[in-house]
Amino acid sequence: MDFTISNEMKTTLGMIEDFMQKEVFPIEAEFFHRPFKELLPLLAEKRKKVKQMGLWGPNFPEELGGMGLGLVDHGLISESLGRSPIGHYIFGTQAPDAGNIEILHMFGTADQKETYLKPLVNGDIRSCFAMTEVNTAGSNPLLMEATAVKDGDDYIINGHKWYTTGAEGSAFAIAMVVTNPEANPALKSSMIIVPTDNPGFNLVGNISIMGEKGSDYNSHGEVMFQSCRVPQKNLLGKEGQGFLIAQERLGPGRIHHCMRWIGICNRALDLMCQRANARVIETDGRTLADKEIIQNWVAESTAEIEAARLMTLSAAWSIDNVGMKKSREKVSMIKFVVANTMQRVIDRALQVHGGLGMSDDTILAFLYRHERAARIYDGADEVHKASLGKRVLRNYKKSNG
Ligand SMILES: Cc1cc2nc3c(=O)[nH]c(=O)nc-3n(C[C@H](O)[C@H](O)[C@H](O)COP(=O)(O)OP(=O)(O)OC[C@H]3O[C@@H](n4cnc5c(N)ncnc54)[C@H](O)[C@@H]3O)c2cc1C
Repeated sequence: MDFTISNEMKTTLGMIEDFMQKEVFPIEAEFFHRPFKELLPLLAEKRKKVKQMGLWGPNFPEELGGMGLGLVDHGLISESLGRSPIGHYIFGTQAPDAGNIEILHMFGTADQKETYLKPLVNGDIRSCFAMTEVNTAGSNPLLMEATAVKDGDDYIINGHKWYTTGAEGSAFAIAMVVTNPEANPALKSSMIIVPTDNPGFNLVGNISIMGEKGSDYNSHGEVMFQSCRVPQKNLLGKEGQGFLIAQERLGPGRIHHCMRWIGICNRALDLMCQRANARVIETDGRTLADKEIIQNWVAESTAEIEAARLMTLSAAWSIDNVGMKKSREKVSMIKFVVANTMQRVIDRALQVHGGLGMSDDTILAFLYRHERAARIYDGADEVHKASLGKRVLRNYKKSNG
């Protein structure tokens, strides 16, 4: 396994770091105190600068103007951008657009690429991904109830989705729906592109999450598909390929998220150490950093971040070198290990800040609220643990003969 960073990559990471310091971190306060919608002009300016520097969409495939990166490099960029909640957006690689770009690139028709992929890659529009439903368990998508029924040259979609991230302001959704109810469960579903100005696509509203409804990209919508008529040419891939396409999003998507979380861990650790060194806690001038328990938290956090980071890079290397199929265990492992590491590190950093940590004067309260979701989306921890545990036990059974 080789995690050597090429000279080209070192230069790119250096440029990204410089941009984050000079252009991104200084405007974060705006993000915390104003609705995302109001920030769009400011963010558009930043995006323009990123494009001028040739750093736009570094994770896109080469044919789409990206750098044609392997997953390890892809992860290193995600780590760097992840230190700010607006980093990925400013560089054009935010979820779920990044995943939608991948699947449109792999499965889209020429017409779909021209109409949806091209403006998406350019950052002219945004998209969302509508799979999870209000009334069925998202952890088992085989239970999905939303349907698309053929009628002439069209599909008519009905269903009740929620947690459609960034639905507000999106130009189109990729909806996962049942098209073939009689088929084998894994072949029942398909992905269909639905423009959001379709009268049958109804954004009920943004879900209030930990006290905040958010807006535009920074929101999670509840969506009703009500007799939503779309042409059959909007089918992405073939009928019944919904799960297969969802699997395709899995590898790069998981590395993207986990390395973004490592970026968040690094940010929280930086704040924890800076505060511990600065906060005088004794009359003789000693600081929090002089307390053994704080030293323990810093040590534990540093070691846990390093372990989680190497684990994720190892999964990325494995997908690139031996393929997704043989990397499934690693891909399951990183999901819950990194999400929980992040949660512990943010919690310790917040605790070190005392009352300041609870306030919105640092990024920590925002991270504490919003990143709790990491243990739920992209497959709840328990689902990944169950799948990993089963695989490991099966392997033992095989080796026992
Ligand atoms: C911030 C955020 C953003 C999201 N963005 C999107 C998006 O853009 N598009 C989209 O389609 N969805 C999105 N989701 C939805 C997410 O994918 C689902 O919430 C997730 O799949 C879990 O489904 P559920 O909420 O229905 O929970 P359920 O399936 O009802 O599960 C509830 C809990 O039960 C436990 N559990 C579930 N299965 C098992 C099992 N087999 N064994 C043991 N315990 C189990 C877990 O603890 C789980 O948290 C998002 C969610 C969040 C929180």
